[in-house]
Amino acid sequence: MRRRSLLTGMLAPLALQPTHGWAAGISAIASFSILADMVRRIGDGLVSVISLVPPDADVHMYQPTGADSRALTAAALLVENGLGLEGWIARLGEAADFRAVLVVASNGVTPRMMREGSETSLDPHAWQDPRNGVIYARDIAEGLAKADPTHAETWRANAAAFIAEIERTDAWIAQQFAPIPPAARRIITTHDAFGYYGDRYGVSFLAAEGISTDAEPSAKGIAALVAQIRREKVRDVFLENMTDPRITRMLARETGAKVSGPLYSDALSKPDGPAPDYLTMLRYNTSWFIRALRPV
Ligand SMILES: [Zn+2]
Repeated sequence: MRRRSLLTGMLAPLALQPTHGWAAGISAIASFSILADMVRRIGDGLVSVISLVPPDADVHMYQPTGADSRALTAAALLVENGLGLEGWIARLGEAADFRAVLVVASNGVTPRMMREGSETSLDPHAWQDPRNGVIYARDIAEGLAKADPTHAETWRANAAAFIAEIERTDAWIAQQFAPIPPAARRIITTHDAFGYYGDRYGVSFLAAEGISTDAEPSAKGIAALVAQIRREKVRDVFLENMTDPRITRMLARETGAKVSGPLYSDALSKPDGPAPDYLTMLRYNTSWFIRALRPV
């Protein structure tokens, strides 16, 4: 569930002070690499950004370090996703002498609910729908305006330019799916990170793991997935950059499907990889999906 309430009480407007270990400009911390990229885009050289969870790493299961706590103490802005993604961040806020402006980037997003067994929980992966990316960009720009009001107009103008690009990317993705019959739009992934993307483009995603990576998939769940892959003659099962590949490989062995990907779900690639920023990530994943769904 939402954990930001623990942090919210600790926030006070920031005093702009010199800090340690940062490059020029105001200092921002993002909980994970996708948000860090958005802050960098909107900050455009005037904000130095640290991502707590590095590229290719799992944001669900992250263990904050002492260095994270020190960085948070020195930061002017903390950007987190919210929707229960960063269960570890309240603990970090308690450890740090936290004075930064807090942005919960998903504020204003209509959350998607997920059933996992008998439980219903929030799906945190809202950034996978570019229309939510637009909301994130606006929230980040407003957070920057609070942290550094002297550049408020710059943040808003940079966000507007970024949003125009997000909207072009969204239109491009919709165009890629247009020739594929809705009933054929089925993708098998490792963990359930593409629900918002699926809702946006009419794709059903099936995953061995739930919306978090912290629970082992059940034997029953795997058996059902194997049966479905065989029945529907699914050709590809996808790896993700930040999840354990073993289940995907096992599904492929059991069904004869091909191991494809990796998809970039909850983390960007390193700068020299195929998905070093948010918009490239959306396009890269889409290219994989289209390749898997194209009629043979
Ligand atoms: Zn996830």
